[in-house]
Amino acid sequence: GDELVLAVERVMAHADESRRLGVRANADTPEDAARARRFGAQGIGLCRTEHMFLGDRKALVEHLIIAESEQEQEEALSALLPLQRSDFIGILEAMDGLPVTIRLIDPPLHEFLPDYTDLSVQVAMEDDHDRRDSKHHKLLDAVRRLHEQNPMLGLRGVRLGIVIPGLFKMQARAILEATAERKKAGGDPQPEIMIPLVAAVQELELVKADIVQVAAAVEDETGVDLDFKVGTMIELPRAVMAAGEIAEAAEFFSFGTNDLTQMTWGFSRDDVEASFFGRYLEKGIFGVSPFETLDRDGVGQLVRIAVERGRATRPDLHLGVCGEHGGDPDSIHFFDDAGLDYVSCSPFRVPVARLEAGRATSIGELSDSA
Ligand code: PEP
Ligand code: MG
Repeated sequence: GDELVLAVERVMAHADESRRLGVRANADTPEDAARARRFGAQGIGLCRTEHMFLGDRKALVEHLIIAESEQEQEEALSALLPLQRSDFIGILEAMDGLPVTIRLIDPPLHEFLPDYTDLSVQVAMEDDHDRRDSKHHKLLDAVRRLHEQNPMLGLRGVRLGIVIPGLFKMQARAILEATAERKKAGGDPQPEIMIPLVAAVQELELVKADIVQVAAAVEDETGVDLDFKVGTMIELPRAVMAAGEIAEAAEFFSFGTNDLTQMTWGFSRDDVEASFFGRYLEKGIFGVSPFETLDRDGVGQLVRIAVERGRATRPDLHLGVCGEHGGDPDSIHFFDDAGLDYVSCSPFRVPVARLEAGRATSIGELSDSA
């Protein structure tokens, strides 16, 4: 028992000494954050906040969806603020002293809207008299209005933040209030606010201006100096091409290789396996799913372009990856070679990522000296 543990610890220590890449984890709860830390994660590379709007909180989200005035929208958002603040306090506390990249909400909208058929049934059961003003009726209207043919290409990420600016502002406030509270309690919170699905620097600038304004207000109210970063996901081919400009407004990039793979190949990440995927494998068009192992020739080339253009603008631009590929051994070798600063993966993959990052650096040094 003990000898085995010691041997494993020795191997891990060796990998940690050799590796150049940092290893963070994707975690959305304090429990996952704590687990990631035990596995040796050096921070959180992706905290997905959309999951925080499900479960008990669905009713609050429904208020937001059916809000008919700005005031109603504000009310719905202020009910969510204290819940989000405590979400972030928990995660920042679990990762005290380490960076925590919190991504503002990126829902595929269809996953958050109530089911159309269920709603229709409920509305049909209501008295004629109540129907028009009922919550179900309003929701049904909203679901009709918000229906999209291609939700993954639709009102997601930063687009939602631009259409409902109060939503991102509420989240930024919750993150920054949580940061102030942790600091007051003697902690060392290191939040990084990340904007999803950015295609153009103008989107990032709009959102960033709001965040900066919220931060000034929170500093005023709490008397705490706030240190935080603002950065973006790079997960659309256009963001890759515009990376030089985008880096002017971003302190860090994190590659969302799930979406970048989907958008580059033009395959739906949700449907591909069920439809033609098997044929592609059979015919050798690819040997392994590009959603598992980074497609070096296509998606990988885009990563390299974004690294080069981003660093040309901002030499100290911090670069990571938080798509599934961040925990895939072959892909980790690629990210090391492409010059990223860290990979982020599920907590359970952290030990393997540490080992693989160690091997990647050693192999890289061997081939450099050859
Ligand atoms: C990605 O697209 O790679 C990513 C990390 O974000 P999500 O999977 O949440 O879209
Ligand atoms: Mg994504």
